[in-house]
Amino acid sequence: MARYKDAVCRLCRREGTKLFLKGAKCFMEKCPVEKRNFAPGQHGKDRKAKIVGYGLQLREKQKAKRMYFAQESQFRNYFEKAARAKGVTGEILLQQLERRLDSVVFRLGFAVARRQARQLVRHGHIAVNGRKVNIPSFQVNVGEEIAVRENSRKLVILEAAKEFASHQTAPTWLEIDRDNYKGRVLSLPRREDINLPVNEQLIVELYSK
Ligand code: SF4
Repeated sequence: MARYKDAVCRLCRREGTKLFLKGAKCFMEKCPVEKRNFAPGQHGKDRKAKIVGYGLQLREKQKAKRMYFAQESQFRNYFEKAARAKGVTGEILLQQLERRLDSVVFRLGFAVARRQARQLVRHGHIAVNGRKVNIPSFQVNVGEEIAVRENSRKLVILEAAKEFASHQTAPTWLEIDRDNYKGRVLSLPRREDINLPVNEQLIVELYSK
C-alpha cells in the first residue's frame, strides 16, 4: 500500500478523534478536530450513522495504524507475531507499535510528533547502541541505548522538541537524558504505559475472523 501523503489532520477528522500527529498544534484551539469535528470531504457532515460490528473493529485498527504510520502489511505482521507470542495478544500488538524506533524517538522527546521522529530516523540522525539505524520500524529491546548522533545534535528541531517534551509526561519504561540527546529502554512498555485511545481487543477480533 502506498504511503499516505495528504494532510494528516484529515486522518484525525476521519476517525473523529485526535491522533496527535502534529505536535503542539494538537493541543491548540486551531486543531481541526476542535473546529470541524466531522469527516473530511463533500459528504463528511452527512456521515452520522452509528458504527457497529465490523465497521467499529476496522476503525480501531485504522486509528492505531495511523497513529504509528504503520503500513497494512506491517500491521498485520505485528498482529501475527503477537498472536503467536505468550500473553495478551492485544497488549503485545500495541507493545510492538510502541517499540518501533520512530515511536521511541518521539517518546524520548527528540521530535514533536511520530512523523517528525520518523524523518529523523530515515535521514540517519539516530543511533542504537552507537550504530546508525535508519529503519523507522526497527524494534528496540530492553537495555538498548537510543541517541541522536553526534553530528546531528545541532538540528533546530531538537531544541523545539525538547521544549515540547518538557510539558509532556515522560514514559516510565524509558530512561531519558534529554541534555545529551540519549535514552535507554528500561523495560518493555505495559498497556498502562501506552496512552493510546484504541480498543485493541476489537483489532484482535478483526484479524481473528
Ligand atoms: Fe490531529 Fe493534531 Fe491535526 Fe488535531 S492538529 S487534527 S490532533 S494531527
